[in-house]
Amino acid sequence: MNVIESLKEMDILKLMNRASEITLKHHGDIITLERAVFLSWWCERGDCAFCYMSTQKPRIREPSKARRNVNAILAEAEICRRLGWNIEFLSGGYGSFSPEEIKEIAERIRDITGSPVWLNTGITTDLEIYGDEVAGITGALEVANPDLQRKLCPSKPLEDIAEMLEAARDLGFRRGITIILGLGETPDDLRYLFEFIGDLEIDRVTFYALNPHEGTVFENQPQPATLYYAGTVAATRIEFPDLEIITGTWMDNLGSIGPLVLSGANGITKFPLFKMFGTSYGKRVEEEVRWAGRRLAGTFTDVERLRRGRSYPEIDPFIERYVNGCLKNLKLL
Ligand code: SF4
Repeated sequence: MNVIESLKEMDILKLMNRASEITLKHHGDIITLERAVFLSWWCERGDCAFCYMSTQKPRIREPSKARRNVNAILAEAEICRRLGWNIEFLSGGYGSFSPEEIKEIAERIRDITGSPVWLNTGITTDLEIYGDEVAGITGALEVANPDLQRKLCPSKPLEDIAEMLEAARDLGFRRGITIILGLGETPDDLRYLFEFIGDLEIDRVTFYALNPHEGTVFENQPQPATLYYAGTVAATRIEFPDLEIITGTWMDNLGSIGPLVLSGANGITKFPLFKMFGTSYGKRVEEEVRWAGRRLAGTFTDVERLRRGRSYPEIDPFIERYVNGCLKNLKLL
């Protein structure tokens, strides 16, 4: 099947059917809940045309104040462990923590969750410092068209991203990329994306749909159509049966989860966990996965699992704050 032609002809159901068969055969029927854990609310680059951070940069005068308290980050890791959520990666604007500090945080998270973490902490040449606390390195490619990428992400040269991923491969780390759909790319741009995935032996792709942030040039743009998003994911799945695919969905578009799962997503992400837990939105996520005929690893609704967990003297107050926030939403507190 020529998947790009099928996408151009809008033969989405055919793509989804094929992708679904491949996914069940190569990955089974489990769908994971993935949470990006942010290290800071600051970005040294701050000029990607679609990004919320780019609207904040002028307002943050002291970048050190935008760093999150490390205990709050670790508390989030414990909550993810309790709920069976994966930490998709440690993420944050460029330049917020040193590699040594990121390594220490990754080690502590690994000790809490029992799993090494992926990093999505910017373009770096300092990968040698990391060891078995890190599972993989993510290159935030963001745009599937190279000319558009240069224009929209002027401070993230794609050559540097590719170089970092090559270095990660040489050091034995897994490799991931992130792609946002709806930035002006076309189905033909998948040729470039597939080449990039193939050449760099990418293990994981996280797709997102454009979230048109106020104050950016995209603020009046629509999010991409669900079936275009699904068709793109399905085409990628068909081309790369073993690839891990994560798809991001905003809270205002939960209805796209079912089609994305049927198109080959292994995991779903981009939810405000503490706002959605136990609410009708959280239940909707579970229903979307159930009606796609898949099983969800982890929970969005189990209050007992949220409450029960390990105790760490220095992070307990932060854990309690998160748990109480969820319970208040549910009017259980
Ligand atoms: S580098 Fe990342 S955080 Fe910074 S502006 Fe670009 S997309 Fe946003």
